[in-house]
Amino acid sequence: MSLEKVVDSNRVIYLDCHSTTPTDPIVLEAMWPCFSEVFGNPGSPTHAYGVRARELVDAARATFARVLAVESDEIVFTSGATESNNLAIFGAAKRWQGKRKHLVTIGIEHPSVLEPIRQLEREGWRVSVVPVGQQQATGTLTREGSMSVPVGDLEWPGVVDLEALWSVLSEDTALVSISIANHEIGVIQPIRQIADLAHSVGALLHTDATQAVGWLPLDLDKWQADIVSFSGHKFYGPKGVGALYVRRRETYPGARPVRLFPRILGGGQEFGFRSGTLNTPGIVGIATALRLAHERQTGAAKAVGELRQRLWNQLTEWVPDIQLNGPNWQAGGPRLPNNLNFAVPFVEGQTIMLRATGVAVSSGSACSSSTPGVSMVLRAIGLSEDAARSSLRIGLGRFHTRDDIDLAAERLSQGILLSRG
Ligand code: PMP
Repeated sequence: MSLEKVVDSNRVIYLDCHSTTPTDPIVLEAMWPCFSEVFGNPGSPTHAYGVRARELVDAARATFARVLAVESDEIVFTSGATESNNLAIFGAAKRWQGKRKHLVTIGIEHPSVLEPIRQLEREGWRVSVVPVGQQQATGTLTREGSMSVPVGDLEWPGVVDLEALWSVLSEDTALVSISIANHEIGVIQPIRQIADLAHSVGALLHTDATQAVGWLPLDLDKWQADIVSFSGHKFYGPKGVGALYVRRRETYPGARPVRLFPRILGGGQEFGFRSGTLNTPGIVGIATALRLAHERQTGAAKAVGELRQRLWNQLTEWVPDIQLNGPNWQAGGPRLPNNLNFAVPFVEGQTIMLRATGVAVSSGSACSSSTPGVSMVLRAIGLSEDAARSSLRIGLGRFHTRDDIDLAAERLSQGILLSRG
């Protein structure tokens, strides 16, 4: 069944691509043999079944590495970005133990970054949460609020304050962990500048690239991050598979190969970083999905950016007082082309979602539902609890059409107007 049909038959327009995406039929096709004829364990070299499976994994790893322009032995396959982030943070911290004792992040990171760092803080690590640009810089949540005040590139809501970052860094800093693109407001960080600052004190940079794939060029050479996390299901690959790039080469002067202490011990698979029988279907799937995302990135980013603009134009026409959360791309703000996040003053996001039947949106990260309805990301960029509660997040994808967007705008606007009574 085609993806369009899945959307049609449910009669609900799926606008939650930051949460997950459907598996591309091309990806599924590539995975299919791994469930049947190529079912061997890639770690069993003594017979043809194992050898064949190993060949598929090797080819997938080579594809993944080629897309990123890195070496195959720099790619570690995991169960998803949660595991990748945990491995990066705990793994780097344990390697530095006794030498450095300071970690740096920002308050808008995904819980799979923040929670490991909080755990390390409980274990005695010093942690700095560097401030990010505040929402007030480009608009406030009043009915009259304007989004048009121009600000410098680095003052956009959610963008890390580089001076504050510089001021907390020292020779005690082991790791800086800042994602290149945010999962709720789509803000894109100046990752190369962050890398240069981290490296100037000898610290490593980890970046969670989960939300960037398919929308930004994956230029690891330019980013200069030492460790990078990926998740298959965010770019039309399967769930339950991810990857971690772990730099081995000297990509900047003085860079030593990154050594991570493994989180999962056992048979020593994945260069010893991550034991466990390899998930052949998942690995073939994520590599195929990454290749497709890469091949289509330029066209997809342009097309989805136009759809996002179309949706925003219609929403603001129906509901003139909705307020954009995060950087205003229309004024040059650094934002993923598929992301929208806005507050509807005086209405709860949950209420809108109940009323706007026929669209699937979210009120924030699916993984941070411990305080339902209140996005920690929005709070961290300065929104009040009320404004955060009245916000919705939309993630567009590469299969959306103009018709989907027009219908979605109408359904959402109706839902908002109904919620207001
Ligand atoms: N990082 C980010 C930025 C995410 O959006 C997500 C998924 N919500 C994750 C990590 C976790 O990814 P996974 O589902 O693969 O564990």
